[in-house]
Amino acid sequence: MAKKTVEDLDLKGKKVLVRVDFNVPVKDGEITDQTRIKAALPTIQYIIDHGGKAILFSHLGRVKTAEDKAGKSLAPVAKRLGELLDKKVTFVPETRGEKLEKTIAEMQDGDIVVFENTRFEDVEGKKESKNDSELGKYWASLGDVFVNDAFGTAHRSHASNVGIASTGIPTVAGFLMEKEIKFIGEAVENPKRPMVAILGGAKVSDKIGVIENLIPKADKILIGGGMTYTFFKAKGIEIGTSLVEDDKVELAKSLIEKAGDKLVLPVDSVTTKEFSNDSPTEVHENGIPEDQMSLDIGPETVKLFADTLQGAKTVVWNGPMGVFEMSNFAKGTIGVCEAIANLTDATTIIGGGDSAAAAESLGFADKFTHISTGGGASLEMLEGKTLPGLAAINNK
Ligand code: ADP
Ligand code: MG
Repeated sequence: MAKKTVEDLDLKGKKVLVRVDFNVPVKDGEITDQTRIKAALPTIQYIIDHGGKAILFSHLGRVKTAEDKAGKSLAPVAKRLGELLDKKVTFVPETRGEKLEKTIAEMQDGDIVVFENTRFEDVEGKKESKNDSELGKYWASLGDVFVNDAFGTAHRSHASNVGIASTGIPTVAGFLMEKEIKFIGEAVENPKRPMVAILGGAKVSDKIGVIENLIPKADKILIGGGMTYTFFKAKGIEIGTSLVEDDKVELAKSLIEKAGDKLVLPVDSVTTKEFSNDSPTEVHENGIPEDQMSLDIGPETVKLFADTLQGAKTVVWNGPMGVFEMSNFAKGTIGVCEAIANLTDATTIIGGGDSAAAAESLGFADKFTHISTGGGASLEMLEGKTLPGLAAINNK
C-alpha cells in the first residue's frame, strides 16, 4: 500500500512534528555511531528547505526508572545534528510542558527544535511504550502535521508514532521510512526474480517467521549460521556440540519438507572444540565430530552459495553465516558478502542488526543497495507482518 510522504505536504509555516530514529549508541556522552542521525538528514533538510518548523523527537535506549535517564538524554544528539546540518538546533530538555510549548511557539520557518527522549515518559506508567492516549494527543497538539521517519520503531505501537497518528493529524512517511518500505517491501512482496534469501544468525526460533513467509516468495533460501545445526539434526546429520534448539527439530523437518529444493543447507562446516578464536579449527563435510562445534560455514558451502546466487536479481540477507565477530569464523560471512558484491544488476538488501554490523565491520557496507536501519522492524517486515507504525501512516 503506497503511503503519503513528506512530499505530499505543504510545509510552509507549518509546525512539523517529526518522529525520527535517533536511537544511537552513546558512551560517556559521546555518540559512537551516527548512522541513524545521518539517515534522518534528508527528511529534516527537506522540511526546513520548504519553510517548515521541524520539531524532532525520538527515543534513546530503554528507560524504566529515573536512574535509567542518566546518559539517555538526546542533548548530545541535538548537538551532533547541529554540526551535521551546520545549523542552529535548539534542544529542550523535557518531553512536555511550558518551556517546550513556548519554544515551539517562538519558532521561525526553517527552525529546528529537538525535545527530550520520548522514553522519559516511561518512568511513570510507561506512557510512551504503552501508547498512553493522552500523551499521543498532547504531542499531536504541538504540531500541524506529523512526519514519521522512524522505521526502527515502526514495529512498535508507541505514543510517539501510533499515538500521535491516531489523533487524525495528517501523518506521512519521511524519506527514510519511504526507502525502507520500498526496498524491503518490494523485495518481499514483488521481487525481481530470481530472488534469493540468505538466512543465518543465531537461532531458528528467531527466524521461523521469516523462513515461513519467504518459502513461497523466494526462489532459493540459503541457510547458514547457528540455525544450520537444528536443520542438520532434523536431517539426521551429526552436529557435535554445535548450537541446537531441540524443541525446533520437528519444525525444521517440516520446513525442509515444505521448502523442497528451494532450501539450500551448508555442505561443510568450520569446527572447533571451544568457543574461542584461539581454538584450532577443522573443516568437516557432512557430520561434525562429537567433541566439536561448528562456528562457520565451510569453503565448499561458500562456493555453493556463490553459485546459487549467480544471476539473482534480488537478494535479501538476514543473519550472519558464522560467528563473524571472531576472525577464524568470519570467512563464511565474508565469502557470502563477496558473492553478493559481485552480482551485477541485483537489488541487495540487508535486514538485521548483526548482519548490518557484519557488513560494516567486514568492509562491505557500500556494496549493498540498501542496509536497513531497523533490525526488529525489518525482521517483522520479512515475516510479512503489518507494522503498526507503518499502518498508521496515511495512504496515498
Ligand atoms: P541479525 O541481527 O542480523 O538478525 P542474529 O541476531 O540472528 O542476526 O544473529 C547474529 C549472531 O549469530 C552473531 O552474533 C553470530 O555470532 C551468531 N552466530 C552465527 N553463526 C553462529 C554459530 N554457528 N554458532 C553460534 N552463533 C552463531
Ligand atoms: Mg541480532
